[in-house]
Amino acid sequence: MLLYEQGGPRSSLLYFERKCFSMPRNPEVYRLKAIADQAFAAKQAAYDRMEPIGQHRHDLNKRLNKSWDEVCSAREEMNSAYERQQVEWESYKSERDSLSAQIDAVARDANRAHEAMRGAFDRASDAYNSGDKASALLYASEGRGYQYERNSCNEEKGRLISIAKSMTPPSSDFHRFKERYNNLMDTHKALQAEYKLIKSQYEMARDEFSRAKKQCDIAKAAFERIIEAERAKWHDEACKECGATIRVNIEWSHPPSFCKACKEKFKNAHKKQVANVEKAIMHSNSSEWGRFNDENARIKPRNDGSGKVDVYYGGLSADGDGLGHGHVVIQEDQVVYLRGPWQDKRTQWDIDDSRGDHTRA
Ligand SMILES: [Zn+2]
Repeated sequence: MLLYEQGGPRSSLLYFERKCFSMPRNPEVYRLKAIADQAFAAKQAAYDRMEPIGQHRHDLNKRLNKSWDEVCSAREEMNSAYERQQVEWESYKSERDSLSAQIDAVARDANRAHEAMRGAFDRASDAYNSGDKASALLYASEGRGYQYERNSCNEEKGRLISIAKSMTPPSSDFHRFKERYNNLMDTHKALQAEYKLIKSQYEMARDEFSRAKKQCDIAKAAFERIIEAERAKWHDEACKECGATIRVNIEWSHPPSFCKACKEKFKNAHKKQVANVEKAIMHSNSSEWGRFNDENARIKPRNDGSGKVDVYYGGLSADGDGLGHGHVVIQEDQVVYLRGPWQDKRTQWDIDDSRGDHTRA
């Protein structure tokens, strides 16, 4: 699975915890987180579907461009082969035409010489028959000159014809280049069709991803809004004992008054006091009088069926009760309330009685 967001899903538990000071109680937070996680997974799945199609499209596009370059260079080669062929044909044609004109001219010369030769021999024959031997010899000699000229022309004609016959038209490689061009063009068109198909598939996958991303952004924003609201519920308070900062949520029905260190300190003090009270009970031996914390104490089991025992000590009366007395409440051998002598009943006690129900009957 390819993660398109580096660092993994932003709606991870780590991210969740970083945003909050402790796990919130509001169920809406978990509902929105589930929606955001689901939307993120859907977006990731859409991305995973889109990514390989996009890669295929990219590869195909590269092949298409390469194929087009090949088509273009093949076309250039084909065109220059055509031009080369044209030039060679022109040169062949002009050579053949000029040869043909030369043959015509020499044939005309041969005819003319032949006609002149026949005229001269006729005239020689006529002169001989009329007894003019001298003229006959002259005409005959003239005729032989023309005969020689005719024969020479015919020889030249024969030579030119054999040259014409030996001429071959230029061979062309144009068709080979044209065939190559056509093949490359066919390949290119097939690639184009394939690319068109993949492109439309990619666009569908991309639209799907965009929709999923939008949904994810909306869900994430809703989740972040509620996390911010949860965050705003927290504020700082000072520990009533030592003044250290404690984080308090406004929704807590019993917000703490003391820091963890102070609570630990109270717990230890409580243990010590319990030991003292146990000692006091032993000393009292179930009678109404005893000692507590090295001071006189008055011990009074309650008659209300609660099983609680009140112990008053350290007061101004000789029995330990009276003005300024400390107060211990024991229930089932446990100290459930402890306030030292001269402490404020409402706010000061050594064992937490925030519910205020231990001293009540
Ligand atoms: Zn404190």
